[in-house]
Amino acid sequence: MTENPFEESIQYLQGVGPERAQLLNKLDIYTVGDLLWLLPRTVLDLSQVKNPEDLEEGELQSVRGSVVDIDGRKISGGRFIAAVLLDCGTQFVKGSWFNQKWITKKFFPNQQVIFSGKPKKKAGKWEFSHPHLQFLDEDTESQIGEVLPIYPLTEGLKMYMIRKIMRSVVDQYVHLIPEHLPEFFLEQHSLPKLSDAFRMVHSPQTMDEYEKGKRRLIFDDLLEFQTAIGIRKRYRMRNKNSFVIESTAKIDARIQRLFPFEMTDGQKNAINEIKKDLLTGFPMHRLLQADVGAGKTVIAIYSILLAIAAGHQAAFMAPTEVLATQHWELIEQILSHSRVKRIFLTGALTASQRKETLRQIAAGEVQLIVGTQAVIQKDVKFADLALAVIDEQHKFGVMQRAHLSAGKTAPHILVMTATPIPRSLCLTQFGDLDITVIKDLPPGRQEVVTSRITGSVEQKRVWKFIKEKLAEKRQAFIVCPRIEQNEDPENKLHSVESVFEEISNHLLKKFRILPIHGQMDKNLKEDSMNSFRSGETDVLVSTTVIEVGIDIPNANIIVIYDAHLFGLSQLHQLRGRIGRGNHQGYCFLFSDSDDLDAVKRIHAMVESNDGFKISEVDFEIRGPGDVLGTRQHGELPLRVAELPRDTEILEEAREAAFMTIRLGELETEEFAVLKSKVLNRFQKLMDLPGSG
Ligand code: ADP
Ligand code: MG
Repeated sequence: MTENPFEESIQYLQGVGPERAQLLNKLDIYTVGDLLWLLPRTVLDLSQVKNPEDLEEGELQSVRGSVVDIDGRKISGGRFIAAVLLDCGTQFVKGSWFNQKWITKKFFPNQQVIFSGKPKKKAGKWEFSHPHLQFLDEDTESQIGEVLPIYPLTEGLKMYMIRKIMRSVVDQYVHLIPEHLPEFFLEQHSLPKLSDAFRMVHSPQTMDEYEKGKRRLIFDDLLEFQTAIGIRKRYRMRNKNSFVIESTAKIDARIQRLFPFEMTDGQKNAINEIKKDLLTGFPMHRLLQADVGAGKTVIAIYSILLAIAAGHQAAFMAPTEVLATQHWELIEQILSHSRVKRIFLTGALTASQRKETLRQIAAGEVQLIVGTQAVIQKDVKFADLALAVIDEQHKFGVMQRAHLSAGKTAPHILVMTATPIPRSLCLTQFGDLDITVIKDLPPGRQEVVTSRITGSVEQKRVWKFIKEKLAEKRQAFIVCPRIEQNEDPENKLHSVESVFEEISNHLLKKFRILPIHGQMDKNLKEDSMNSFRSGETDVLVSTTVIEVGIDIPNANIIVIYDAHLFGLSQLHQLRGRIGRGNHQGYCFLFSDSDDLDAVKRIHAMVESNDGFKISEVDFEIRGPGDVLGTRQHGELPLRVAELPRDTEILEEAREAAFMTIRLGELETEEFAVLKSKVLNRFQKLMDLPGSG
């Protein structure tokens, strides 16, 4: 025996041996500990298996029977249909599959099978379409009435083998699992002991037990993550190393005068929260979340001017050059009579211009720096940067920010995003930030009327409608998924090129139309944008380059071709380009697709203008990684927990984690193991301090 029983090799376990050990290796399982962490994907509740006469249409249920007939054949249109008949004692029940030729190979006569799904009655017989399958091996025969764990498998490794191995591991090892959380804590959160939890998950007696065991493992997972976030936040708040920025009534009045409108209540509140942060001397890390069009730029500029009025530098960063340009132009307009020394750090500067600009920034001769994040973060050295505003940066999670605030004085950081982030993600990805949400929109905004457009007849009506609106001097965006036409006849997508040609020559012949996309020359791109902004151009045919932040209040129509190809938050962002002025906005989603997820997305758009509702739907369809952008950035470092499924447990674990930190308990013997687990897992990833 090695010292740690959980590090023992699986090879010597009862029922394993060298051959099966190799198969388990394929699942990344080498030790007893690894094996215990091979958690069931789900469980099958055999006590819930129904007799056919008790089935109800459309409910999720299971039946059990033996295979009496297996049938597969071609039907019209090159499709394939497979059917398997089960003898369930009192009745026959059918399972059916479309276009899954291989499915028949999984069955053999007399085999014991469980179908799970939502059955329908067809011609007097119950039928499960594409049921979830469970094959009963001899050894499970005797287990009816129990709850069966279902493990991930690999070629050659059968379910009954894993179950058997797991049962012996549970018997021999589970009682050795040490408890690292104090009893009062477990009691307070109704958690079973860790050793019990592993038993409950691997050999549950009831569904209740399984859920209880699983909850403990999920709780631990989230508790560790939230403790790391809590440590990070406290660490930041311990360093009082940011500039104290005070504002006065005079400064406020001077800034407010620059804007031709009154702030909304949401904007006022956001500015007040930021002002409070800037006063403390602790580095602000605030996430400003507000739906598209809520007026975040105003808040950015306001905060920036506060920092500059206090005698320091501020930076305003955008994710794209187009957006940075727009911010720059707005700032030029707002500050046209001001002496604030400002600079636009664009990629278009010559090498010597750039060098001189960098020198001025480092010498403190410039007060406000605008540019893309890429350009500014690459090699700019600031003289005394007090505030960095990062626009449209929902991908800028806790792990990314951890490495930004180096140096003696930490800048205050304001991250702004129009991608509404579901609460569960806020607590994880942005769990160490303070969050401000703006719920109201500037006055006079109307909901954008959104329609799904299928077929050429509907499209024709839309073009007629658009012509009328353009004649009234409104403007339209037309968005396509591609730049150039592709040759693939199977998968014909609309491109900026082809659509531009078609509407210029036919559909909208009389109007001024320009294209814009990412591969165009920078100057041409700017020309298109400027011409559209000034109202000279009526229609802009574009790719998603217009997705983020573009603000042209007179544009009130957007057409999105092949809308099924776009993600939900992307569609919402695109729609956010219109309905910003006083004119009713219209969004037309062109799509003939009947893909289920795509239809769900389009439906969500038609149903709601509320970014928060839309993001919840998006999260449900796609999971966290995709909501936050690239998988890589969105991936949460979680083992067992899944979001948004486990949001409730997350809230409780977060409260618990922050409480142990606030009360100083985390530094005591009782929580020492928890703390070392947290540091092991997250110290590097989140740049946590080693101790204290
Ligand atoms: P966001 O970045 O949040 O999508 P913007 O900052 O681009 O929104 O603002 C959208 C539009 O609303 C802009 O044209 C801006 O001038 C205008 N706006 C912002 N705040 C107000 C306000 N309080 N009253 C009226 N219009 C406003
Ligand atoms: Mg914006």
